[in-house]
Amino acid sequence: MKQNNLWQETSEEKPTFKLLEGTVESDITIVGGGYTGCSAALTAAENGLSVSLIDQQIGYGGSGRNVGLVNAGLWLPPEKVEGILGKKDGIKLNEALATAPDLVFNLINKNNISCNADRAGTLHCAHSQNGLKDIKNRYRQLSERGAELKVLDKNETELVTGSSSFQGALLNEKAGTINPLSYCLGLARVAQSRGANIFESSLATKIEFHNNEWITHTEKGLIKSKKILIATNAYLKGISGIPTAKYTPVFYFQAATKPLPKEIIKNILPKSHGCWDTATVMSSFRLDCDNRFIIGGIGNLGQNISKIHSSWAKRKAYSLYPSLKNIPFECFWGGEISMTDDHIPKIYRFGKNAYSIFGYSGRGIGPGTYFGKSIAEVFCNENEDSLPIRPTSSNNQRFSRIKGSFIELGAKINHLI
Ligand SMILES: Cc1cc2nc3c(=O)[nH]c(=O)nc-3n(C[C@H](O)[C@H](O)[C@H](O)COP(=O)(O)OP(=O)(O)OC[C@H]3O[C@@H](n4cnc5c(N)ncnc54)[C@H](O)[C@@H]3O)c2cc1C
Repeated sequence: MKQNNLWQETSEEKPTFKLLEGTVESDITIVGGGYTGCSAALTAAENGLSVSLIDQQIGYGGSGRNVGLVNAGLWLPPEKVEGILGKKDGIKLNEALATAPDLVFNLINKNNISCNADRAGTLHCAHSQNGLKDIKNRYRQLSERGAELKVLDKNETELVTGSSSFQGALLNEKAGTINPLSYCLGLARVAQSRGANIFESSLATKIEFHNNEWITHTEKGLIKSKKILIATNAYLKGISGIPTAKYTPVFYFQAATKPLPKEIIKNILPKSHGCWDTATVMSSFRLDCDNRFIIGGIGNLGQNISKIHSSWAKRKAYSLYPSLKNIPFECFWGGEISMTDDHIPKIYRFGKNAYSIFGYSGRGIGPGTYFGKSIAEVFCNENEDSLPIRPTSSNNQRFSRIKGSFIELGAKINHLI
């Protein structure tokens, strides 16, 4: 069995984009059409700059494969962020990303992006007593910073999840779920309608800086521009001529049932919350708009679907919801997360007016949209103060491939048990 991505089968946004042929001159070149690139293209075009964005396929990367949980902040709790970046910079990043769900849902509403957006809230579910301590700690930290959250006890969690597996949950009613690929395609459609040139089947192969200009080559064309953004996150495909982002690759996969009838679904997530848990080898679960049950976990499915991970998905779904016994999964697909050493995204300045943004470490719908918008503002007003985080001039992450292999081994062992 081969991978088949549910979001590709159900995306309501289906814009078309042309191939890059010949020479194009723009103010900005953007390499990569996920949330970061598309959000940057949209903001730049709305501010009157000419933009050319290239990709093999819009939403080919994490933006077209993820769980679709639109959450505030990063994975890290805010005190950790302030500890790593220092109080002032940490507060700036935390405050910026606290507003990210507003940014995403406002863009969706304002531009009529058809992505089954459902701002019903998300639940961070405590899988153990330690997990409960973790969410209470997060609750304290986030509440002190103005977030409106609720800690649910075991009974309340059972009522809203329909599962008795959890000790409690942290509810964020301002968060929600989307069809992630549709959102990305919608952003690209709107950017194109505002004048951005969006090209598909057009991978950057070489980038050079010549006569004060960035020249980006693809198989059939090239773009000349004064400013450039590399927004390839975990999906960078061979570009020569520039230093590349360094990160630890972590695989995550999902499995979805077919649309389920009322009698099976009636106790499962009655309020349509999107959920993930506190386990180190974490899992996620949600419904889509047609009542498919979708479960996710860490691991590399491989092209032909690893038995270890696919059998785990069935067992896990059944352990959460006995009514899912013998319900087959119809779609299995996976994606790659780019994890940085400190789990904080990076804005890497690799040359004049040249930035690479990567390392969302598993939370990129809100952050990617926010970072893309902010970098476009820097291109417009040439002032880096509007960035949520200081750019670095180093892209060093240590032993990244080895760390990725360890995480995969841990996930396989965990999914065997
Ligand atoms: C399975 C999974 C589940 C996740 N779940 C969530 C979640 O629920 N909530 C959340 O907030 N985040 C989640 N994330 C993280 C989130 O999806 C990513 O952080 C986000 O999509 C990154 O967006 P991006 O635009 O930076 O990169 P991407 O979406 O990865 O886009 C990079 C693009 O660059 C293109 N590219 C690469 N090389 C070239 C080249 N040479 N020329 C042109 N284009 C190129 C690729 O084709 C790709 O389309 C998840 C990630 C994964 C993988």
